[in-house]
This record gives sequence, structure tokens and C-alpha cells, in this order.
Amino acid sequence: MGLGGPEGATGGAAVRFDLPEVDAFTRTYWDAAAEGRLLLRRCGVAACGRAHHYPREFCPYCWSEDVRWEEAAGHATLYTWSVVHRNDLPPFGERTPYVAAVVDLVEGPRMMSEVLGCREGELRVGMGLEVVFREAGEFRVPVFRAREDAVRA
Ligand SMILES: [Zn+2]
Repeated sequence: MGLGGPEGATGGAAVRFDLPEVDAFTRTYWDAAAEGRLLLRRCGVAACGRAHHYPREFCPYCWSEDVRWEEAAGHATLYTWSVVHRNDLPPFGERTPYVAAVVDLVEGPRMMSEVLGCREGELRVGMGLEVVFREAGEFRVPVFRAREDAVRA
């Protein structure tokens, strides 16, 4: 996900680095996220048909422009993670420690995100996750938490 840099902040409000930069194309994605829906882009070429994330206007695998929005199930597995103990960029500092993660959506795409509500010792490669949406200014940003069945396992 694109993180807003200092030049993206306007209006003299406190600069924060967790907000996306939204353009006309990604507006669809962020509008859906605000409604609690995670969107993917899927290639319409029969020989390809792969889904990708973060959204692009071209299929990153075959460069076709025949790419459509699709709602993801919101289920993923944990691929890798890093517990961040220090981040001086606001508002991350007040969240530390947090779990920066790369997750594999069931539809295939790999996605940079965060895992909430898990202690470090509970994290396992391949554990089941589900998307939740965190308020971030006017946006809701997709992050993940352990699925109930994964915690018990
Ligand atoms: Zn393709």
C-alpha cells in the first residue's frame, strides 16, 4: 500500500504516514474498504486469469488491460512477519510493538499488511487470518487478525 509522505499532507494537520495516496483509479479500492470490502484485481485473459494486489491498471503477469475488480473473501494465511519495536513515523510510534506482515490471500495475491491481536509467540507461518478494517483518518485500511479456528489450533 502506498504510504503518504510529508508532501502528501495538507492543511497543517499533524503529518501521519499510515494514510494511502488515493488517485482516480484506486478510489474504487478505498471506497470499498470504507464499506468493509477488500477488492482485488483479476485478469480477464483466459490463459492467465490471475488476481493481483495492490491494484494496478494492467495485469502484472501478462500486461493485459482486461483486468476487473473482484471482491476478495478476506481470508489469508501468514507468509512472513516482523515485529516492529521502533518506528518514529507517526502514528506508528504509538502502536509499537506491532506485527508487520506479508500474507497470502486465498485468491493468490501476496499482500503487505499488519496482524492485530496476536502475541509474537502465537504467530505461525501458514496460520489462518481474516481481514478487518482499521480506521485511519477518512480511510479504513485492511489489516488481519487470526481466524478463530487458527487460534485454537
Ligand atoms: Zn494476466
